[in-house]
Amino acid sequence: MKRAIFPGTFDPFTIGHYDIIERGLQLFDEIIIAIGSNNEKHCSTPASERCRQIQDIFANRPEVSVMTYNQLTVDFAAQHEASFILRGVRNTKDFEYERDLADINRHLSGIETILLYASPQYSMISSTMVRDLQRYGKDISPYIPKN
Ligand code: ADP
Repeated sequence: MKRAIFPGTFDPFTIGHYDIIERGLQLFDEIIIAIGSNNEKHCSTPASERCRQIQDIFANRPEVSVMTYNQLTVDFAAQHEASFILRGVRNTKDFEYERDLADINRHLSGIETILLYASPQYSMISSTMVRDLQRYGKDISPYIPKN
C-alpha cells in the first residue's frame, strides 16, 4: 500500500491541484490532502471550511481523503503512515522552494518528496491568482474543480 500526503494551503483548491491528485493516483494507492492550518489568519477561509469543500470534490473517491493539520508536515505524514510527500512544480521559483522543502523533510525524517511538473495548461494557475480574480468580481469557475 503506497500512501502519500499532498500538503498545502489550498486557499482555494484549484484545477492545478486537482490535476496533481489525478496524476498522483497513478503512483500512489492513497493520497491524503493535508491542509496546513498553522497560518490561518492569512487565509481567506478557515481550514475547516476548505477541508469540507475539498471533501465534497472527492466525495466519490475513497482513495482520496482530506484532513487539516497543525504540526510539522513530516510528523503528520508519520502519524498517518504515509511514506511520501507529493507536491507540484510550476516554474523555477517553485522548483527552488520545493527542493529546499524536500531536502529539509528528508533530513528530518527520511521521507521522500515526489514532485510532479504542472500540466502546461494549468501552470499559470495559482490560488493567489484565483483569490485576486474573486476579489475583483471575476468568474473563477474555469480555475476550480467543477463540483
Ligand atoms: P503552499 O502554500 O504549501 O505552497 P499551495 O496550496 O499553494 O500550498 O500549493 C500546494 C502544492 O501544489 C505546491 O506544491 C504547489 O507548488 C502545487 N501547485 C499549486 N498550483 C499548482 C498548479 N497550478 N499546478 C501544479 N501544482 C500546483
